[in-house]
Amino acid sequence: MKILILGVNGFIGNSLAARILSDTEWEVYGMDIRNDKLDACLGSDRFHFVEGDIGINKEWIEYHVKKCDVIMPLVAIATPATYVREPLRVFELDFEENLAIVRLCVKYGKRLLFPSTSEVYGMCTDREFDEDESPLILGPIRMQRWIYSASKQLLDRVIWAYGFQRGLKFTCFRPFNWIGPKLDELALDPEKEGSSRVVTQFISSLMRSDPIRLVDGGLQRRCFTYIDDGIACLMKIIENKDNKFNGEIFNIGNPANEATVKDLAHKLKEFFVGHPATKHYTKHSEIIEVYSKDFYGEGYQDIDFRVPSIRKARELIGWEPKVDLDTALRKTLEYYLDSNMKAVC
Ligand code: UDP
Repeated sequence: MKILILGVNGFIGNSLAARILSDTEWEVYGMDIRNDKLDACLGSDRFHFVEGDIGINKEWIEYHVKKCDVIMPLVAIATPATYVREPLRVFELDFEENLAIVRLCVKYGKRLLFPSTSEVYGMCTDREFDEDESPLILGPIRMQRWIYSASKQLLDRVIWAYGFQRGLKFTCFRPFNWIGPKLDELALDPEKEGSSRVVTQFISSLMRSDPIRLVDGGLQRRCFTYIDDGIACLMKIIENKDNKFNGEIFNIGNPANEATVKDLAHKLKEFFVGHPATKHYTKHSEIIEVYSKDFYGEGYQDIDFRVPSIRKARELIGWEPKVDLDTALRKTLEYYLDSNMKAVC
């Protein structure tokens, strides 16, 4: 099987490509604007990488959509700070550029594996979000945070419609706060503060001994999912035994790993302070509270809780997440401490 991964150097892309190359005989064709996370892949003769931009290298993309069996367009901005600061960039990349790829899949009859998002559920009040039943609830237009959710939701609907009317073979998956090594670049420079997702944001603050900032008190809850669990599920979806996953949407998350942002801050601080690599620190981060409008800007609105129902993934795919929250956090922290020490040495 030949798999095209656009955005192969991203958090999901690099990890997935490495797993495909180590566990299967499949070929991976990958494009990205950078290759710094691809050490585990670049030596393989089944990994075909080109440095490029999905907005520019359109001929390469069309040729490879034609050539490959499964198409995964993973290029997207997925950090809330950017939804608020640069909503048009989010729309152009996450919606417009990806719509072009969806249409190529329709044109060449290729199987599309599309990254939807847990954000599409927005402020849904269901205790567990269900792919086929839960309503998708977004805030007003002036709250720019929702542009990402709305862009992804419309693409999900367009993909669904192409499946319904034109026979597109697709599977959409919705990651719930995946974490792990290579998640985001650390903001070791205070100028970049606020530009990554919560776990990497907190690790950056800990490394700089700057305050960890809890937005609006930090009582919001998320279910953090370890990257290896998510990748294990994606591997089964790509395999698509008996074509069972065509036309389906799957939540991929770990409902057992629910924590408040405040819990998360305390856990990460405890693991950081207790780690041998940090014994030279003379001062550790304090944990403070900030208002969301100061941290993100006026166009931000939060999601109080977000728990996936994984009944469908369990029953249809036969998948179960295994890594508990503390292990997932420790492994993520370990990776950043290790790579930071290597950079200093
Ligand atoms: N958050 C926080 N402090 C930070 C970064 C994020 O309290 O330094 C909060 C944010 O308001 C949200 C949660 O942490 O409620 C998760 O944020 P993330 O950026 O990881 O993305 P989300 O899960 O909202 O998509």
